[in-house]
Amino acid sequence: MGALPVFRWRLAPDGYATRRQLRALGLRPGGQPVAAQLERPRRRRGPLVAYLYRVDLAVPVRPMTRARRAALERANRARRTCPSCRRDAGYVIPAALGTCVPCAFPDPDGSEGSTQ
Ligand SMILES: [Zn+2]
Repeated sequence: MGALPVFRWRLAPDGYATRRQLRALGLRPGGQPVAAQLERPRRRRGPLVAYLYRVDLAVPVRPMTRARRAALERANRARRTCPSCRRDAGYVIPAALGTCVPCAFPDPDGSEGSTQ
């Protein structure tokens, strides 16, 4: 890999980023080869070059897989499930109530509109 372009520090072209910069964007190289090298300032310790990767080939740090999507779905369903009646309330159970609204405010005699 001797033919990699080398850029001066802070003069890297748009579209390239170091692994650390990718990380700040929520990305990772994703298996792509090193695209270029960046010369570091001489006064700094450590390696004299940093590796640059192409931003357009980077992938999200935590890709959404089918298993991950299913886990999210289960978590959301659990948050909608009333711990009292075990029904899916269709909304996230309010923490202040701890149960769905019908469980928190039960109808006194189970009928509606017949009181007079
Ligand atoms: Zn309930």
